[in-house]
Formats: sequence, C-alpha cells, structure tokens
Amino acid sequence: MASPISYVDQVAVVTGAGNGLGRQYAKFLASRGAKVVVNDLGGTFNGKDAAGKGDARVADVVVKEIIDAGGVAVANYDPVQAGERIIKTAIDAFGRVDILINNAGILRDITLRNMKTEDWDIIMDVHVHGAMKTARAAWPFMRKQKYGRIINTSSSSGLFGNFGQANYAAAKMALVGFSETLAKEGAKYNIHCNILAPGAASRLTQTVWTSDMMDAMKPDWVVPLVGVLVSRDCQETGSIFEAAAGHYSKIRWERSRGFVANPDTLSPDLILDNYSKIADWTGAEHPDNAAGAMALYEKAKSLPKANV
Ligand code: NAD
Repeated sequence: MASPISYVDQVAVVTGAGNGLGRQYAKFLASRGAKVVVNDLGGTFNGKDAAGKGDARVADVVVKEIIDAGGVAVANYDPVQAGERIIKTAIDAFGRVDILINNAGILRDITLRNMKTEDWDIIMDVHVHGAMKTARAAWPFMRKQKYGRIINTSSSSGLFGNFGQANYAAAKMALVGFSETLAKEGAKYNIHCNILAPGAASRLTQTVWTSDMMDAMKPDWVVPLVGVLVSRDCQETGSIFEAAAGHYSKIRWERSRGFVANPDTLSPDLILDNYSKIADWTGAEHPDNAAGAMALYEKAKSLPKANV
C-alpha cells in the first residue's frame, strides 16, 4: 500500500463543515495535517437561517474537536454567499488556501407546481452562488501558488433529476458545468476541480431515508474518496464521482453514434425513420469538452449521409 496521504503544510476550507459530510471532511483533513477553516453559519436544513442568523456553535464544536485531537482549525460563520470572507479567514489565519470543498447545502423540496420563486432562489443562492463566491475568491491565491484542489458537491438529484427537487437538481447540475469549466480554466495552474455526488446519513436525508439506509450510509464513508481527490499527487480533474455506502464510482457523458442527415432531405420524417440510430448506444463515445459541435460538424462532413 502507498504511504498515507498527508496534507501537512496545506490549508483547507470546508464550507458547511458544522454537520454531516463537511464535518467529516474537516476532521479528516486536520487529522492528516491540514490547517482547516471550518465554515458554517449553523443554519437549519431548509436554509431558514441562511441569512447569517444561525447557530455559530456548530462550527465552534468542530474546531474544538479538531484542536482537542491535536489539529489546527479556525471557525468561520459567514454564509457561503459571502465566500470571499471565508477565504479571507483562511488567508488571515494561515496565509494561503490549497483545498476548497464546497459542501454547504440546504433543501427546499417542493414540486414545480407548488414552488415559490423564493424556494428556487435560495437553493441557487446557497449552492451555486455560494460555490462561485468561494472559488472565485480562492482562485487568485491558487493561481499564484500554481496549486489548488477544489471539490464541488453535486447530487444524484442533479445528475438524474428527482421528484420534488427541481430547484435542488438544477443547482446541483449547474455545479457540474461550473466545475467542468474550472477544471479547464485551472489546468495550466495545477488547479484541479472535481464533482462529488455523495450519499450519506445526515439532516438532509433523515426525513426521507429508512433507519436501515441511515445505518448503511455513514458520512465518513464518503471521506476517503474526497481525501484522494484533494491530495497533492491526484491528477484527476473535471470528473464526476459518486460515493455512498462504501461504493465509489465515476459518471460520464455518453453520445450515441447517431446518424448524419443529408441537408437536402431534412424533415421530421427523416428523423423518425432514423430514430433507432439516434437512440442506439452501440459504439457510443464519451465527450469531455465543448468542442462537440465542431466534432459533430466534422463527423457530418465525413460520414455517408442517410437519405429518405
Ligand atoms: P448537513 O445539513 O448535515 O450539513 C450541511 C451544512 O451546511 C449545515 O451544517 C449547514 O448549517 C451548512 N450550511 C447551510 N447553508 C449554509 C450557508 N449558506 N453557508 C454556510 N453554511 C451553510 O448536510 P449534508 O448531508 O452533510 O450535505 C452536505 C452537502 O452534500 C450538501 O451540499 C448536500 O446538498 C450534498 N448532498 C448530500 C447528500 C446526502 O446524502 N447527505 C446527497 C447528495 C448531496
């Protein structure tokens, strides 16, 4: 087995680290030598206190746990929407930021039919706006030091959709596009950005999961994968991972071979006649960049055309 991963001399910021998954990330990174900013405003699971009136003690409790275990940590109580203040805490306390785990999150589950605009806005605000604010504030420091490891937290709801979670799913999928772009913009500065869709017993899942599921999905089982992705030697970037119940996997896009139409014969009937080719996954490819439109153009030029 390789020697244990160490984060000595590294500074990690973990948002929403007062509970659930974030707490485990913060404690783990500190246990392996990272100096950690434990961010949490101590809000309710539905963001009732997301404006900053939360119970700051949750961050203090985690900081104390870390220090009692011999680690180094400071608390930050700002909402992630003020992400620049969270990064400032890292710079003021430790002089740098190497690892950023955008983990803070809330739920406002409701069907589209019944959703109020505020249910949409607050979810976008915490998950998407919050992740952008912390990442944008950390970016100049990571660029300058030519090193950074960012994790943005998505969800299976974002990747696949989930009843009653149109707001949350949209936000979590937005983080995929955001992260894929950071991975590309950060590549030449050794800033890596990956996406995690976790599954873990927490305040967010306790109302919908059975006690068996809660027992089988410990938050600390998500930690080892995150530990690898934010480590110095990990070269992974722009990838989507799932981690739950001790199972770890990757998710990727797939494009069917499709068919190429002759422009002179375009019609819905042509599409219908060739629909089985559009939907056939045989020989599919796995695109990982937005040059897809150009690739489709090249393909259209090179392949024999299907006529009516
Ligand atoms: P949790 O409720 O246990 O912890 C989330 C923490 O974020 C809380 O301590 C909360 O106070 C904090 N927080 C909320 N809004 C904040 C804000 N504006 N600024 C700063 N802190 C804020 O939840 P969890 O299950 O540990 O979830 C962590 C992340 O994982 C979330 O992004 C969630 O959407 C995602 N996720 C969790 C699961 C799961 O199975 N638990 C599944 C998919 C995605």
